[in-house]
Amino acid sequence: MSEEKKTKIKKIQVTGHMRKMMADYFYELDAASKAGSPKIAWCTSVGPAELLLSLGFLVHYPENHGAMLGATRTANDYIPVANAIGYSPDICSYLTSDVGAFIKKETPLSRAYEGIEGVPKPDVLVYNTNQCRDVQDWFSWYSKELGVSALGISSYRNIGKIKEGHLMSIVHQMKDLIPPLERISGNKFDIDKFREVVALSKDCTSLWRKVLEANTATPAPMSFFDATIHMGPAVVLRGSSQAVEYYKVLLKELEERIADKEGAVEGEKFRLYWEGMPIWGKLRDLAEFFIDLKTAVIASTYCNSWIFEAFDPEDPFMTMARAYTEIFIVRDENFKEKYIEEIVERYKLDGILFHDAKTCPNNSNNRYGMPERLEKKLNIPTLTINGDLNDLRCYSEEQAKTNIEAFIEQLETK
Ligand code: SF4
Repeated sequence: MSEEKKTKIKKIQVTGHMRKMMADYFYELDAASKAGSPKIAWCTSVGPAELLLSLGFLVHYPENHGAMLGATRTANDYIPVANAIGYSPDICSYLTSDVGAFIKKETPLSRAYEGIEGVPKPDVLVYNTNQCRDVQDWFSWYSKELGVSALGISSYRNIGKIKEGHLMSIVHQMKDLIPPLERISGNKFDIDKFREVVALSKDCTSLWRKVLEANTATPAPMSFFDATIHMGPAVVLRGSSQAVEYYKVLLKELEERIADKEGAVEGEKFRLYWEGMPIWGKLRDLAEFFIDLKTAVIASTYCNSWIFEAFDPEDPFMTMARAYTEIFIVRDENFKEKYIEEIVERYKLDGILFHDAKTCPNNSNNRYGMPERLEKKLNIPTLTINGDLNDLRCYSEEQAKTNIEAFIEQLETK
């Protein structure tokens, strides 16, 4: 790698701290898996993690593992393995790469962490369909394969205004999970412990929001590509004090950058929104490409998806139901457009990039005319990039970069 390439991305100094925390998390899961205690739950990324933690489970997130397969560019070795057992190449490539890796008995965890030989063995699988139906199929496959119960919450989708009926249904379903989870964990549900975990998740979420909102400053101190890495603790360690401590230090570093007027992109000329999933195998490449274009991609739906504003330890069931129901992916087009409009204004953005991820229609919001409607309303250009979260066969680098360059030229003339 040339010297020029090495220095393009400004390193966030606390990254080492985060890597150590993530390593501790994976080693703790591995030790529990080998010892058979504490019990391990696999949970979808926006599943009832706080409930599981309060019952003493350690929690593994298969989507996080899917993202690791994407980021290490090994996903394409595994997707065909899942296709061969009947999973279409058109469905979620987190699912197909994760299942394929499991069948091949391989994981990027072994390469990253000495001594870890596989993903932690689950004692229970818990999903929430708030994001998509794929997670239910994904966990059902593991349930049959491993002989472990899959329990779930079926959520409403495409919601405009959230009504009490929506929330009550989720609350009932969460409460119904408690008896089987008590049996599997061997622990009794304790409302105070639950409140404690929800309070920690609330603190984590508030700090994560502040971290992301640091990018309302000009120049923006952190790129979307940095944020996808630094959201790791909000995804897998929410509900813990480590995540809270981490975001305090990260926030401090970003505030120092703001005070020093140090942007993630030297000479920031344009500011963009990234709508949709990251292209995990191309994060670094795209980050460097945008730096060369003096363009800061600084706000996104994806990173905002781990802001769970509603959490309140005083009313943990109802507010957890609300937090996991009011997320962007669950909402109707009208809500989504207003949400993006508000961010475009607040972050002073010049344009919006839509990533049409081939295997995730749930996170590809360009398909029903939203870019055109927002262009008209906000008088800013949009661009759709075709690609995928994990399956790099769906991404043409040359075409994407040509289109992005033309888009930036359009901004220059504007
Ligand atoms: S939301 Fe998309 S990426 Fe996430 S699990 Fe569902 S299909 Fe896969």
